[in-house]
Amino acid sequence: MSRLMDRRQRRSRRRVRGVLIGAASLVVVALLVGGALVVTGVLHPAGGVLAAPTALPAPSFTAAPSSSPAPTQPPVASATVSPAPSPSASPEPAAPPAPPAFDRSANSVDDPLSPWVVVNKLRPIQDGADYGPPDLVDLPGDIPNPNGYQLRADAASALVDMFHAAAGEAGIQLVAQSGYRSYSVQVRAYDYYVNSLGVEGADLTSARPGFSEHQTGMAMDILDTVSGCSTDGRCFANTPAYTWLQQNAHRFGYVLRYPDGGTPVTGYEFEPWHWRWVGVPLATELHTTGIPTLEEYFGLPAAPGYAG
Ligand SMILES: [Zn+2]
Repeated sequence: MSRLMDRRQRRSRRRVRGVLIGAASLVVVALLVGGALVVTGVLHPAGGVLAAPTALPAPSFTAAPSSSPAPTQPPVASATVSPAPSPSASPEPAAPPAPPAFDRSANSVDDPLSPWVVVNKLRPIQDGADYGPPDLVDLPGDIPNPNGYQLRADAASALVDMFHAAAGEAGIQLVAQSGYRSYSVQVRAYDYYVNSLGVEGADLTSARPGFSEHQTGMAMDILDTVSGCSTDGRCFANTPAYTWLQQNAHRFGYVLRYPDGGTPVTGYEFEPWHWRWVGVPLATELHTTGIPTLEEYFGLPAAPGYAG
């Protein structure tokens, strides 16, 4: 009886030991697995179970799908609670901003000192009888300038660069035929044409005093050394020099002021030789847009003739 009791007690102790060993093993395994999960980021040490942050589908704040990176959201305590749409969340990603429009009001079209001044038969130079540019300069000696004309400093500098480029890039020697003309010189020029052509003919060829772009010091009549063309008719339009100017003058801030077909707007017949300095930005803008005249670009009235 006592031996039987001893065997039962020993079996009972062995069962208890086995249960304890098994429980301890489970704890060790659980700790090992838990540690591994913490290391891999699956089990958060603070207690919450998280998917890896990058795999968490972000709550959508927009009705339409968005290609922008999802905003990082704090962990959601309960899957049944979804964040309310926020009115401050940005909707569709903004389209890339358009390049800023050219500022057509950056310079005056009225001030004779402005590079953008528009002078025509309805827009005489302000105080024209008394106006003379303050910064006229001679052209350097390597610029063919048979009559010794001057220009304002910026227009002259650009003209020199343009003449050098025509020679260097295309082997074309341009000629500065007529630049700044004072009010009194314009009086004589206009009278000359009136005497030979009459008023109607003169007005198609020469500006009345006070109405000439040449008085601004920012216009130059340009010819070449080989064609034999003059500042008359369409001869110069058929030269390589004119073609080069058409394609390149804007790089130096010059525009053709009296284009072919522009007479109803400009009041002048086609003058392939008459180039006006307006600065590189506006000249490039006109070249790019293909708008043929300053009047049309600035929305100014056409000036086919004098007011009275
Ligand atoms: Zn001219």
